[in-house]
Amino acid sequence: MPEERKIAAWLTDMDGVLVHEERAIPGANEFIGALRDTGTPFLILTNNSIYTPRDLRARLANSGLDVEEKSIWTSALATATFLSDQVPNGSAFAVGEAGLTTALYEAGYTMTDRDPEYVVLGETRTYSFEAITKAIRLIKGGARFICTNPDTTGPSAEGPLPATGAVAALITAATGRDPYFVGKPNPMMFRSALNRIGAHSEHTAMVGDRMDTDIIAGMEAGLTTFLVLTGSTSREEVDKFPFRPSVVVDSVADLVGRV
Ligand SMILES: [Mg+2]
Repeated sequence: MPEERKIAAWLTDMDGVLVHEERAIPGANEFIGALRDTGTPFLILTNNSIYTPRDLRARLANSGLDVEEKSIWTSALATATFLSDQVPNGSAFAVGEAGLTTALYEAGYTMTDRDPEYVVLGETRTYSFEAITKAIRLIKGGARFICTNPDTTGPSAEGPLPATGAVAALITAATGRDPYFVGKPNPMMFRSALNRIGAHSEHTAMVGDRMDTDIIAGMEAGLTTFLVLTGSTSREEVDKFPFRPSVVVDSVADLVGRV
């Protein structure tokens, strides 16, 4: 069984595993502390491409979690890494926030709206009709269409918000072109994270709260998968999927002793 493999590195989802509505989930601090104290390589993953790791570090600190910037891996960083592998020092028209544009700049990319190699769509809270129109015209003109994550909605205290995948669908409807999505459930997100910390899939665990993103992508990347029940999945829902996690635990508190 995969759960009996020795685990030498950890990847963990953020929302629903470590934090919920901007509050730390009990056990999260102890889990992160155990990883740090033992020098175990780990990364905290998020499909959200709005924020830079520095922003997220500050947000996690507000929630009561102390995490270093270098321990955070966003879909924007995974996208920038992917693009710089595909076309080093390329050009992009980016629709997104600092999380995306900073990652692209740091990966050696130039931002331009004149004949870019890529149109890169990320999460934003201020989608502009003008920017989307530009993106559509550039894609029709031959730019490759990349999207940081396929999530169609995101959570907020007032209710769901339209997310990157929903705006990508709008652009696809107007261009007839589908994007390549880099974030979860694409196992690419995990492979780039593993490379970042020098970890190997057969000795790495993934902790997540969603079967259709965290667990399936972890499984496809060859990781041991832990499903926690503090997020969007209940124990009864697990059996509705044609695949299963390696282990189901109540919360991240149950994983402290496994580090
Ligand atoms: Mg989650």
